[in-house]
Amino acid sequence: MARAAARGAGAVVSNAPLIQLRGVTKSYGQGATQFQALKGVDLDIQGGDFVAVMGPSGSGKSTTMNILGCLDVPTGGAFLFRGHHVEQLDRDQRALLRRRYLGFVFQGFNLLARTTALENVELPLLYRGDAKRERRTLAMAALDKVGLANWWDHTPAELSGGQQQRVAIARAIVTSPDVLLADEPTGNLDSERSVEIMELLTDLNRGGITVLMVTHEPDMAAFARTVVHFKDGLVERIEDHHRQGRMPEPDPPLTATATATATGAH
Ligand code: ADP
Repeated sequence: MARAAARGAGAVVSNAPLIQLRGVTKSYGQGATQFQALKGVDLDIQGGDFVAVMGPSGSGKSTTMNILGCLDVPTGGAFLFRGHHVEQLDRDQRALLRRRYLGFVFQGFNLLARTTALENVELPLLYRGDAKRERRTLAMAALDKVGLANWWDHTPAELSGGQQQRVAIARAIVTSPDVLLADEPTGNLDSERSVEIMELLTDLNRGGITVLMVTHEPDMAAFARTVVHFKDGLVERIEDHHRQGRMPEPDPPLTATATATATGAH
């Protein structure tokens, strides 16, 4: 219906962003101690994109991710998800949106100890009321997607850090969300394991899921197609690397050959 109405108005709906932030502000505290963490963030995220969020500590990355993850609300401005004003939803409606459309991955994996990989992955399905057989089928499929089907009966303590993060990713995607929000997903991993996790996220993204990832590491941001840089509570600049595919390695600096390859690609 929205599509027809918009088409009548001459809008190109197929290009409408999945996520829109408009003049988003966030203040903490009151009066003299009030602190403005976000000062008017404007950001469009297209469905299917792979976005890295970067910026110095305190620049507003986590605050923005908490708003996008429907865990917090803006003080001012608008947050639209699929064209719907999320800032006008109440807590329960936001929880529903979160469960239906979003998956979360954290730096510390956040798996339940003494609980098997399979049971960890089944949890979001338990919360939404799926029957046992359905839970098993979907959770095994998600573990298979992250390459851990054979490890289903292992507890986190029996898995490496990289494997634990894979289980956490399986748990995040088991409900087939539109968006995967990842907060420094490789922050606790060595560089080899980090690259494996980024390759997994890239594969999932190719499968259609929109990925939003906070990272401090340029090597990890290089896997993204859009890099959003925050500074002092605002979006400072956005790098768009859609045409090149994967960004060139930041170190060594971009060479004439790399530029020629990127230019020759289209
Ligand atoms: P980043 O993730 O980029 O490090 P944050 O979004 O966590 O930045 O924080 C932005 C600013 O807001 C920081 O100065 C931080 O101290 C402040 N801040 C974040 N959360 C709170 C809070 N709950 N209460 C007060 N200040 C906060």
